[in-house]
Amino acid sequence: MTALALDEKHASDLDARDELRTLREQFHIPPAPGGRYSDAAYFAGNSLGLQPKVIAPRVAGELADWARLGVEGHLEGNRPWVAYHELLREPAARLVGAQPAEVVVMNSLTVNLHLMMVSFYRPTPERHAIVIEDTAFPSDSYAVRSQAAFHGYDPDEAVIRLRPREGETSLRNEDVVAALERDGDRVALVLLGGVNYYSGELLDIETITRAGRAAGAVVGWDLAHAAGNVPLQMHDWGVDWAAWCSYKYLNSGPGSLAGAFVHERHLADRTLPKFAGWWSTEPATRFRMGPVVEEVDSADSWQLSNPPILAMAPVLASLEMFDAVGMAALRAKSMRLTAYLESVLDASSVGPAAQIITPRDPQRRGAQLSVRVSDIAAGTVTERLRHGHGVFADARQPDVVRLAPAPMYNTFHDCWRAATALAEVMSDRAG
Ligand SMILES: *Cc1c(COP(=O)(O)O)cnc(C)c1O
Repeated sequence: MTALALDEKHASDLDARDELRTLREQFHIPPAPGGRYSDAAYFAGNSLGLQPKVIAPRVAGELADWARLGVEGHLEGNRPWVAYHELLREPAARLVGAQPAEVVVMNSLTVNLHLMMVSFYRPTPERHAIVIEDTAFPSDSYAVRSQAAFHGYDPDEAVIRLRPREGETSLRNEDVVAALERDGDRVALVLLGGVNYYSGELLDIETITRAGRAAGAVVGWDLAHAAGNVPLQMHDWGVDWAAWCSYKYLNSGPGSLAGAFVHERHLADRTLPKFAGWWSTEPATRFRMGPVVEEVDSADSWQLSNPPILAMAPVLASLEMFDAVGMAALRAKSMRLTAYLESVLDASSVGPAAQIITPRDPQRRGAQLSVRVSDIAAGTVTERLRHGHGVFADARQPDVVRLAPAPMYNTFHDCWRAATALAEVMSDRAG
């Protein structure tokens, strides 16, 4: 097993048998800044996904419509802009396992977290806590703290940060459930990452949602690292709301537009507090320009502005790619790819100086392995990986290196390269 995992030809054989191998040709793969190969082995798709080749012509098409039609592009042209966001509804719904009316693509992720909390964080003196993970992405931490403060509560008291057990590196689902059972009567909102950005852990969204709701809390999920990474069933799992960005696994470009999900049971609830804009109102009467919003029974009712079409075109193109392959096939390849990366890391015996902190159970992780390094800074490791080996990885200082094999474009050979390069960097670290 060890010898096989370290065999470069074995990696190439796995690629030759991979049914999704031609997807890679649909992407621009950056050149390698160093090492033996001309292309980079790109493992930073959990931070910024690679650019699909179809995006440039799709954006150029919108620019051409604008040049040719001016304002009439709203109603004419290939994909008239007034209704453009509706083209994203169905593919976005399939991606997260939602009904079409439950999703909308708009804004950026942190903005959507706030818009969702306007409606779904409704604290009272008895029940105002917000539960997050201790390793929550900083933007989520800042967002929930600012929401608690906005409502007049002390964020240090209101925000409960869930920590792994002593000596462990990820949460246990049963511990999250136990915490909700124990403290649930003071919890107003649970906001967790479906896949944690740091450890790569995939939480049991369905079970935790059930426990949170049973405790009387509203349960929201940040799917930044889950959308396009793992299959999701937000509707069936009964999730109250969710939000995600589209520039990580969804390859829609730096800072690209985000998504939001609101469960059907909330869509016609006129008592929810909400901020409104002209894109919140009923589209059939929008251009009568009346003084009062006519609410719609869909997630569109959380929209504010007319969407930035040049930013939305890449999201639509990317969603079409996910639709064409399907999350089931992507997840199947992803699990094989990540397990293979793990086996080469294990076999290349970098030893205790490089420890995988992501759960070892493939059901409890997405397309990411986080490696804790010692005696060398994580940033030095990723520098040497990139310049010495053409491997793009991501450093979370001081000591975590994240490697994300994305099934859309990464190969088994990329995994072999990344793991053997890491072993080399680690064994040379003293020098
Ligand atoms: C990437 C990421 C963000 C980034 O937020 P933006 O508003 O898109 O800048 C926020 N939260 C999580 C969990 C993330 O992974």
